[in-house]
Amino acid sequence: MHTPYIDIHTHCRNEQHDVLSLQNCIVGKDYFPSAICSVGIHPWHIDIDFDKQYNALETYAARENVLAIGECGLDKLTKTKWEKQIKCFEQQIQLANIVDKPLILHCVRAYQETFQVLLQQKVAVPVIFHGFNKNIALAQSVLKQGYLISLGADMLKGAKNNLISDLPLEKIFLETDDKSISIVDIYTYFCAVRKISMDQLRNQLAQNFQNVFKYSYL
Ligand SMILES: [Zn+2]
Repeated sequence: MHTPYIDIHTHCRNEQHDVLSLQNCIVGKDYFPSAICSVGIHPWHIDIDFDKQYNALETYAARENVLAIGECGLDKLTKTKWEKQIKCFEQQIQLANIVDKPLILHCVRAYQETFQVLLQQKVAVPVIFHGFNKNIALAQSVLKQGYLISLGADMLKGAKNNLISDLPLEKIFLETDDKSISIVDIYTYFCAVRKISMDQLRNQLAQNFQNVFKYSYL
């Protein structure tokens, strides 16, 4: 197989043969897929019966096609009670530590709180901040703590070119999330701004994927 394009976070099923995508499954909302996926409880979708939802997540988390826990995390703009969000996030960090799978994070206006909870819970697996669309200073502070960053369709608006130019290639991923866009377009845009070849980017992100997820697509 040719080095695939890697879409680290999507809510859609992959239909392109040269794309390897990590489909996201929200427990209690989405069907559990047979393809490789991340599985988690999103702060927007915490059930009233959280214990039951978490038990289901625990069961899924051990499955072989589950490569990561998430998206999960903290969101200051959602109506979900803060205490509930914290508890749900803490438990998912612990679960990720137990099953030894990376975490994919949703973080809205709660970076400092997220850093704090990760530290308190002694996160021991790779952490990826998905859909990152903040400034370079915040990106640096994410990287300084050893975490990774995934960039999405937001970059196509042109306001994130400094992130594209400055971020270390071995610390990033690309994603489509819930946008109806091809990951190839995101790769193409990234290469144009970063002034690197498509081959270089494809190889680097495939390498990152193997390093972080310990998954071989060969
Ligand atoms: Zn998402």
